[in-house]
Amino acid sequence: MRSLYLFLALAFLWSCNSQPSHNVELIDLHIHLKEDLTIDEAIKKSDAEGVRYGIAANCGLGFPIQTNDEIFEYLEYMSQFPQFYIGMQAEGREWLEMFSSEAIAQFDYVFTDAMTFTDSKGRRNRIWIDEETWIDDEQQFMDYLVETSVKIISNEPIDIFVNPTYLPAQMADRYDYFWTEARMQKVIDAAVASDVAIEINNRFMIPSEKFVKMAKASGAMFTIGTNNIDKNFPPPHFAEEMIVKCGLDNSDFWTPEMKKRTAAKSSNCSVRCGACS
Ligand SMILES: [Zn+2]
Repeated sequence: MRSLYLFLALAFLWSCNSQPSHNVELIDLHIHLKEDLTIDEAIKKSDAEGVRYGIAANCGLGFPIQTNDEIFEYLEYMSQFPQFYIGMQAEGREWLEMFSSEAIAQFDYVFTDAMTFTDSKGRRNRIWIDEETWIDDEQQFMDYLVETSVKIISNEPIDIFVNPTYLPAQMADRYDYFWTEARMQKVIDAAVASDVAIEINNRFMIPSEKFVKMAKASGAMFTIGTNNIDKNFPPPHFAEEMIVKCGLDNSDFWTPEMKKRTAAKSSNCSVRCGACS
């Protein structure tokens, strides 16, 4: 009898410990070479954790890459590391005027978010920085954010909409209150209509489970992304949780195609792109 109890206890413990399983290939397309995440560290970490990476360069006004030539130089440098997808993070809304479509097309994929925009009063918002976020009225701000997200997804030539549903600190504690079903559906419909994938973001743990389920029901595609600030980030546990809770499989995920590149002529890059500096 005693051994039966022991067996049951062990069986119970085993069932608690075993992670819910899924068969989705883990590809984190929102990795930045920042701080102590050097290219060598990225290679090591990606191998050790069994997660493929897409390395994204920040391109735009005030960011490391601001010209077509800097894009070409960066791509040549990165072509030495064919294990990684090479992504373009398009910053702000000015990027379309800054880079040629030929240069943009050299990346394996392009993404942006709705965290930088100019509001109806002409103020440039960067909504992850308190001092650069202008909220006169929370509901109006929210409507403007949804409208801006829809515009970006519908008009900018991107593959992925990242940091989706991100809210400024002042409002983030009331996520479900601000992200009503109607607002979520507008963003989802825009993504489906424009064939833009929606990132499941591990660092901010967004969007919500409800959003992911609604997006899946509408036929949206997803990607996994961390948007790390250094090398201290875990494997994509939040995305895995969403995969299991929302019943996602590989067919729900969008994967870039790797562009053919000629081998790098030099191993150095003078662009202070984060990869080499
Ligand atoms: Zn980023």
